[in-house]
Amino acid sequence: MSDPLLTVEDLDVRYGDAQALWGVGLRVGAGETVCVVGPNGAGKSTLVNAIAGIHPASRGRVVVNGVETTGLAGHRVGRHGVAVVPEGRRIMPRMTVTDNLLLGAYRKAARREHRTTLATVHEMFPRLAERSRQLAGNLSGGEQQMLAIGRALMARPALLLLDEPSLGLAPVRVDEVYDAVERIAATGVSVVVVEQDVERALAIADRAYLLGEGRVVADGPAAELRDSAEVRRSVLGL
Ligand code: ATP
Repeated sequence: MSDPLLTVEDLDVRYGDAQALWGVGLRVGAGETVCVVGPNGAGKSTLVNAIAGIHPASRGRVVVNGVETTGLAGHRVGRHGVAVVPEGRRIMPRMTVTDNLLLGAYRKAARREHRTTLATVHEMFPRLAERSRQLAGNLSGGEQQMLAIGRALMARPALLLLDEPSLGLAPVRVDEVYDAVERIAATGVSVVVVEQDVERALAIADRAYLLGEGRVVADGPAAELRDSAEVRRSVLGL
């Protein structure tokens, strides 16, 4: 692996008295695509939220591009090049498509470049250009997912975190989303994708982590994990 862009070490996360992550470690190299898979409740979203500064860790470290971000709030983690596409997309339905995209360019550096980045996002998702003045709430589910990804790209991230991007989408829309993720990765952005559609995520990832009950139970090249008995049993139900 190239130098790690993201290092997570020995991470514990709690919700009050309940512990959701136990000593989780993860590394993502520059330009690498890593997926995190596991059954419902394994802690996948919790891991994304802890990396992004949405939920605090109670122990361990998160280091992004050599800078420790543990304990920083989400907008501060964003300054270090991390952008999130949250589960459920969280777009602003009463704002236009373009205004939603511009929300992603909230950092000073991204704001300066917003015209160029917007053109790149439009090139990647022509539907967002066609629908730029429409209210985001009127978009289809697939288009809203593209919008959520486009909004994250407006921050010009070095690391993109995607939480269940296929959720609730028809298979053809999932194909489009994954095609977009592969194109984003090809531009050199590091990607972490958390997914219930395990086969889909393993197909595009370089490496994968399997979470079970808040712990990493396996990790390795995605192709190897696809064939592992543990993954086949615990998340594919085979
Ligand atoms: P899913 O695929 O169902 O979203 P997941 O792997 O993303 O699952 P998490 O949502 O991270 O799992 O949940 C991990 C554990 O933490 C679960 O036991 C869950 O019930 C618990 N949990 C998650 N969010 C909260 C919360 N806000 N308050 C209390 N417990 C929570």
